[in-house]
Amino acid sequence: MAHPNLWYPYTQAKTAPDPIKVIAAQGAWLELENGQRILDCISSWWVNLYGHAHPHIAEAIYTQARTLEQVIFSGFTHQPAETLAERLTALLPPPLTRVFYSDNGSTAVEVALKMAYQYWLNQKQQRRTFIAFEGAYHGDTFGAMSVCARSTYSDAFAPMLFEVEFIPFPDTFLGDPEVEAKEAAALAILQEKLQQNPDRYAGVIVEPLVQGAYGMRMGRPQFLQQVQQCLQEWGVLLIFDEVMTGFGRLGTTFACDRVGICPDMICLSKGITGGFLPFSATVCTEAIYEAFYSEDLSKTLYHGHSYAGNPLGCAAAIAGLDLLPQYEPRFAALENQHLEHLQALKDYPQVERLRVTGTIAAMDITTVPEGYLNSVSVQVRQLAIEHNLLLRPLGNVLYLLPPYCITDEELAFIYGGIRAILEKLA
Ligand code: PMP
Repeated sequence: MAHPNLWYPYTQAKTAPDPIKVIAAQGAWLELENGQRILDCISSWWVNLYGHAHPHIAEAIYTQARTLEQVIFSGFTHQPAETLAERLTALLPPPLTRVFYSDNGSTAVEVALKMAYQYWLNQKQQRRTFIAFEGAYHGDTFGAMSVCARSTYSDAFAPMLFEVEFIPFPDTFLGDPEVEAKEAAALAILQEKLQQNPDRYAGVIVEPLVQGAYGMRMGRPQFLQQVQQCLQEWGVLLIFDEVMTGFGRLGTTFACDRVGICPDMICLSKGITGGFLPFSATVCTEAIYEAFYSEDLSKTLYHGHSYAGNPLGCAAAIAGLDLLPQYEPRFAALENQHLEHLQALKDYPQVERLRVTGTIAAMDITTVPEGYLNSVSVQVRQLAIEHNLLLRPLGNVLYLLPPYCITDEELAFIYGGIRAILEKLA
């Protein structure tokens, strides 16, 4: 039942099915109030990398809570913040050296946009425009929303958003014959923009390799490599929003490792604490940091949050990083297992555009009457519960983004459930 004192996110309370009450969680499984156990196929909102209630992270938070739970992070510093910054920069490509903490994915993006804009301003250039990708999702605060593709989610706020220029995201799938042509077309648009107005653009923001919320749309490393080459020619900053893709999600520690390039800034959140606490980081190069380092106070980055660098968040993130190496073989293996399981689905007429990158698999459901995207998603969610699965399609896009602790048997159980659900949709 929806609680009379609660307002749930992304929910039209009048028409939405009643929310399901969860009372506990362990590993990949959630326990519901009615005693049913369901398998979390999407790591909740893409956050629980190592499964729910992992004891190592729980312990780290407990210990930290009894030592230093919170302290103002301006004029003061603390060990967990310093250790985490060292651990993160040691994992990231070497040019990314400076870590700025905030507390969710949207604010990690806000910070990156503000840093990029002020980076130019501090050098006496006013570059007001960002380039983002069609189909992008970067968060729900106004700045982050501005660089998102316009959609029903942002329509009400459209007049309040700053102007952004969008270019196509050349998304692809297994056996796509047109990917190179799509990439070349997108690059040509980018090049033309930069050639025509080289001083207009502060930066380009992209979800590297997988656009999440718009429907797990997957691209190729080659494309991003070319984007970076083009930006370097014109000196425009590249921001990777790795809020979803960071920490092994795409089979490498970060998506930028899989692409083989280093952006000027990277936004991290979601899995950073293994799904335990809200926390985020925006990491930039020393060159960006230096543009703010000055005796002139107007060059300061005037941005901060009450909970910036929260020691509990830092402790959870450090504990998450302790766990990451032990799951490395697993997140690489998951890619092959997804590919094998998708083989068994490729002849199902109910799905098309099967795709995999790292631990994420996705497919489009074809049996959707025009204008009924939302109802297919609701129908699949309900059928999934009947098969003891937590699935939450994005419109007609069915996807899996499991915690890395998932076993081979559990993955087979998910795909068995998906086949049964698709047969009911036929
Ligand atoms: N960027 C990306 C790529 C995301 O997927 C999300 C969340 N889905 C965000 C930013 C926003 O993160 P949050 O919900 O923590 O504000």
